[in-house]
Amino acid sequence: MSHRNENSKKLYLFNSITRFVQFIDSLKISYFIYNQVKKIKMSDKSVDMIFDVGVSQADITPQGPIRLAGFAARVKNETQAVLSRLSAKAIAFGSNDENNTIIIAVDIIGIPATITERVVKILSKSISIKPEQIAILVTHTHGSPEVGTLLNILQCRGNYPIDYYFDSSPLLPEELVHIAEFNEFLLSKLVDVATAAFKNRTPASLSWGNGEVSFAENRRTKDGPVDHSLPVLCVKNLDGSLRAIMANYACHGISLGPDVNEIHGDWMTEAQNLIEERHQGCIAMMVIGCAGDLHPLRRDKVEIMKGYGKNIADEVERVIKSDLIKLNAPPVVAMAWVKLPFAAVPTVACLIEQSKHSDIRGYYSKLALERILRGDNVPKELNYPVQVWNFDDKLAMINLGGEAVIDYAFLFKKLYGEARVWVNSYANDVTCYIPSLRILKEGGYEGETSMYWYNQPSPFEELVEQKVTDTVNDLMPPAFRN
Ligand SMILES: [Zn+2]
Repeated sequence: MSHRNENSKKLYLFNSITRFVQFIDSLKISYFIYNQVKKIKMSDKSVDMIFDVGVSQADITPQGPIRLAGFAARVKNETQAVLSRLSAKAIAFGSNDENNTIIIAVDIIGIPATITERVVKILSKSISIKPEQIAILVTHTHGSPEVGTLLNILQCRGNYPIDYYFDSSPLLPEELVHIAEFNEFLLSKLVDVATAAFKNRTPASLSWGNGEVSFAENRRTKDGPVDHSLPVLCVKNLDGSLRAIMANYACHGISLGPDVNEIHGDWMTEAQNLIEERHQGCIAMMVIGCAGDLHPLRRDKVEIMKGYGKNIADEVERVIKSDLIKLNAPPVVAMAWVKLPFAAVPTVACLIEQSKHSDIRGYYSKLALERILRGDNVPKELNYPVQVWNFDDKLAMINLGGEAVIDYAFLFKKLYGEARVWVNSYANDVTCYIPSLRILKEGGYEGETSMYWYNQPSPFEELVEQKVTDTVNDLMPPAFRN
């Protein structure tokens, strides 16, 4: 027993040592594989694709007295007071005629297609830009001037909302001249900022990431749908410093109300200014998501507005320090105009009948009758712009006109993948709210009455959501349609 035991012990010891050595070897192999994978991952992250990118900015603060847009209940006086200055900022991508694109973010309530088209027309001659290659995105700040006749109808008289009293000449002639002057000033600044960004393109890298900020709430329904995501696009110089930041959040710019008759960019400008303070030489642009039915949780104080701006800037700071997704191509663009039919086109008899009411529909009817007498027609449909800009298969940026409601953000994120979709609204032509089928059926402000405030003849037909969705799908590259 003792001898055999001795041999067994030796054999056991030998086997144990062999297994231990094998175990160590396997650890070494695992460690080697781990290191190789890590190196591949690290090299993947460290490789920056370099493109030509230009940035530019211009001050668009009105230079004289002007009526502000945004609230029916606002006082009816012009203002020259400036709480915060307004700006237009541009990023230009690409280095040849095929892939040149320009995004402009502008601190203003809305943009009519007439201005966008004039900008494109001028740029088409100077730098060969086509309509699909430019996106003008407004921040929808309610502290900005009237643009064109976009919101003329909002200039009601009387004690809103208790007693509507409208006037057939809602703006004084000199006020109209000031609005016209601002329109021309804005147009020239948009052309200037796009041209400057285009001309100062130099090598840069692009990346994006997603954050979260929680101050937007659904204004129609308590605890209704909200999208708190904060997508952030980074343009970096070759030394790694920031050249531009573009961030998107879905929330109305109404942390200050109609009692503040001073020019301001609301929480969007506060966020932009803070980001730029923290990163000298960097241009910060806020753009707005599908915020038609979303507004800030708290309102009516300058400190609240500044606080929300800081919330955005702080989260941008966190996102840009995280592992961002490298973009390996400048955007490839597609655009379509889809006809969104109105549910009813009122006849003259119908407008006369409606005009007897003292509400907004009655006021709209009076204005429509006046236009018909001048030879205009009541439109049957809205011509609605949709763009899809895809950065290879890493990111699809959808630009929707009007004030799209939050359901569209969820719809497109579900269809094309939350991790690869970025939805901007308030793009290129802001003519009215764009309700989802749900909101259209529910009615209320965004589905129904806002149409008259926006000078439209009736709510949309129920096809509206399907038509917008089909148009986006037609424009979306196959890589996102899986
Ligand atoms: Zn709005």
